[in-house]
Amino acid sequence: MNPLTHALAAAVAAPGAKLLTELEDLYKDLHRHPELSMQEHRTAKIVADAMQDLGYEVTRNVGVTGAVCVMKNGSGPIVMLRADMDALPMAENTGLPYASTVTARDADGSEVGVAHSCGHDMHVTWMIGAARILSANRAAWRGTLMIVFQPGEETAEGASCMVRDWGKGRFPKPDVILGQHVMVGPAGTVSYRPGVTLSAGDSLKIKLFGRGSHGSQPQTSIDPVIMAAATALRLQTIVSREIAPSEPAVLTIGALQAGTKENIIPDDATIKLNMRTFSEDTREYMLKSIRRICCAECDASGAERAPEFTTINSYPLTENDLAATQKVAEAFGHQFGGNASLAPGPASASEDFSVFGRSWGVPYVFWFVGSTDPAVYARAKREKTVNRIPSNHSPKFAPQIHPTLETGLQAMLTAASAWLCSPAGESGSESRSASAQSSSPRPAAPPRRRAAAARRRSPRR
Ligand code: ZN
Ligand code: ZN
Repeated sequence: MNPLTHALAAAVAAPGAKLLTELEDLYKDLHRHPELSMQEHRTAKIVADAMQDLGYEVTRNVGVTGAVCVMKNGSGPIVMLRADMDALPMAENTGLPYASTVTARDADGSEVGVAHSCGHDMHVTWMIGAARILSANRAAWRGTLMIVFQPGEETAEGASCMVRDWGKGRFPKPDVILGQHVMVGPAGTVSYRPGVTLSAGDSLKIKLFGRGSHGSQPQTSIDPVIMAAATALRLQTIVSREIAPSEPAVLTIGALQAGTKENIIPDDATIKLNMRTFSEDTREYMLKSIRRICCAECDASGAERAPEFTTINSYPLTENDLAATQKVAEAFGHQFGGNASLAPGPASASEDFSVFGRSWGVPYVFWFVGSTDPAVYARAKREKTVNRIPSNHSPKFAPQIHPTLETGLQAMLTAASAWLCSPAGESGSESRSASAQSSSPRPAAPPRRRAAAARRRSPRR
């Protein structure tokens, strides 16, 4: 049983109309003013100022625009909560009255639309709400709260950048790290998964070198267009021919560029690809296979120069700690009943959230909060059209504010409380050693309660 004290439990159950109105205003303001990865200056200032007003010790500009906000409140576990702040380089097409019309220059200097089409504005709003409730109810919990607002998730830069900038001894080392993401699913529900919950993601740029010539004299060329075409086809055999059918993996070539004119054989061609894997072994195997195939195809064409490989970005696997996930799941069961469920499988999406936990050897849990109008979702499920609901990164992605706002706020507080409101005497170091033992079972809920919770839970997707 998650022993939330009375005041905090009441605030979690019913956050209060004034708080919700202010959070909704904040959400709409952030939504109207999205900022590209590593350029989140306005957002960072809003959150850092707000956190300072709430009594947190705020360190700004950690990893460019990140903010680390610490509240020490007696002895107890050190709990890190993370929210990402960045938006995407795309125009919004939701038709909402608070839709973004912002444009900005991306890293290449091009003018692009900017939109919160991944919902990170909701993540920031949830976190500010949780920070307010925890600050206002300090008598109800014990420990150290470390709230981290992270830049640049969409480019896989932010978490690494913050970790590099963290510095030795500047901040306490957390016992657990918690994070959540808004996604398609009935608003009012949460889902979680122990172990691998999100794929690793790797994006590569591969430049293939040929020898340019006149289109009428192919014998004088080494044609990079053929080289790239053959490479693209053979790369598709990695998943279909080299990986076991039981092992999920994705390899997508999203860009294949060569040449300018029909009668010029160009000098080179560029392939940009993205892969998703669900185990470190498969990830390493596929990265090796990509190199092997590219080099062999260039050899087959008689290329005089080896291909050039550049990593565009790399997201590690998100692999939730088993014991910490069980603790969160039990707390969610008490808070949400049948609206908390076990996700049926890992998602082929990627996050840099796990960079913190992986870098420091700290257990972490990442879960999902539904954001679709429940009636719309139920109809789509009946009609088997769930895949047509605009998802994250769609220009039409539009979380239903209520109850998504309340649910994410409650989920973050409920999960954090599982550590911060643990019985007196469970110190940070004890909690760390327990959490580090992924295989050691946590104390289970009483059998009657567990059975009731199991009856309430049903697979969501
Ligand atoms: Zn995203
Ligand atoms: Zn995201």
